[in-house]
Amino acid sequence: MQRLENPGFGRIFTDHMVTVSWEAGKSWHDASVRERTPFQLDPASAVLHYAQEIFEGMKAYRTEKGGIVLFRPEENARRFRSSAERMAMPVMPEEMFLTAIEELVRIDRDWIPSGEGSLYLRPFMFADEAFLGVRPATRYTFCVIASPVGAYFKGGAKPISVWVSDAYSRAAPGGTGAAKCGGNYAASLIAQAQAAEKGCDQVVFLDAAEHRWVEELGGMNIFFVMEDGTIVTPPLGTILPGITRASLMILARDAGMRVEEKAYSFDQWQDDAARGRLREAFACGTAAVVAPIGNVRHAHGEFSIAGGEVGPVTRKLRETLVGIQKGSQADAHGWLHVI
Ligand code: PMP
Repeated sequence: MQRLENPGFGRIFTDHMVTVSWEAGKSWHDASVRERTPFQLDPASAVLHYAQEIFEGMKAYRTEKGGIVLFRPEENARRFRSSAERMAMPVMPEEMFLTAIEELVRIDRDWIPSGEGSLYLRPFMFADEAFLGVRPATRYTFCVIASPVGAYFKGGAKPISVWVSDAYSRAAPGGTGAAKCGGNYAASLIAQAQAAEKGCDQVVFLDAAEHRWVEELGGMNIFFVMEDGTIVTPPLGTILPGITRASLMILARDAGMRVEEKAYSFDQWQDDAARGRLREAFACGTAAVVAPIGNVRHAHGEFSIAGGEVGPVTRKLRETLVGIQKGSQADAHGWLHVI
């Protein structure tokens, strides 16, 4: 298929979708795999007013031997479940979530690009009860759509630049930072737009309480590689518990590196970069996998990391993870789910 050669990210969609309905008293029902068509939504649907919506993001890969695999989809099922709990939405059994994904990948398998591309899967759920009262809705639709994708950043695996937001926070203690809900992203867009204005690829959020601790990027987690080889990443709590983050921590430990989940301040980051104690920094997530951070801009200036090049630890971790996903490296942890 011509259009699969350079699909970009998130603009092209496959022919089908999966939908499952939920209603109080009826639980999950009417599961179907069908042609991808627009929804008919009542204007009073709760999601349009109170943003009761959650989603996931994962990929199906065509391996070098031609098989089709998902990467740790059970982790997405689990995170979807905890997002639902946080947003007072019905929990979808993990088995049902996985079956929905598998069915869509099977029917749209010809859409999975080979080579560097993959099929991005977007499961989501929203409240579609027509009622203007503020309480958890009594009707929901679960849906999965799919989009063939290439590289997330236009420059491929080249280092990205980031803008450290001094004006906006993403999540506060007790808030929804650990849930993958649309509202978190709505609140982050102005900061992401500001990053783009500053010529940066992504925004970095600091914590809401002290505006001091590095949390994560608009759509990725963050890692720092120190001069003694230790790898540091911010602890869970108000950030999204990334599946790429968790996987890279395991791969780094497998490779004999020390990994610490600990609070790391923006002041420290600047200081470590200036004194040469920070060797590399990278962002990670399903879409971009591992993206080296080359340049950091903030309200008072900017600095570069690893001379704006891709550092060796970043490169090695990226190659290992992409190798597992593409089937060229051994899947020692049983992370691939064959379709
Ligand atoms: N943080 C945010 C805010 C994200 O949107 C994502 C992408 N899902 C991540 C981190 C990385 O998560 P994962 O590795 O599971 O894709």
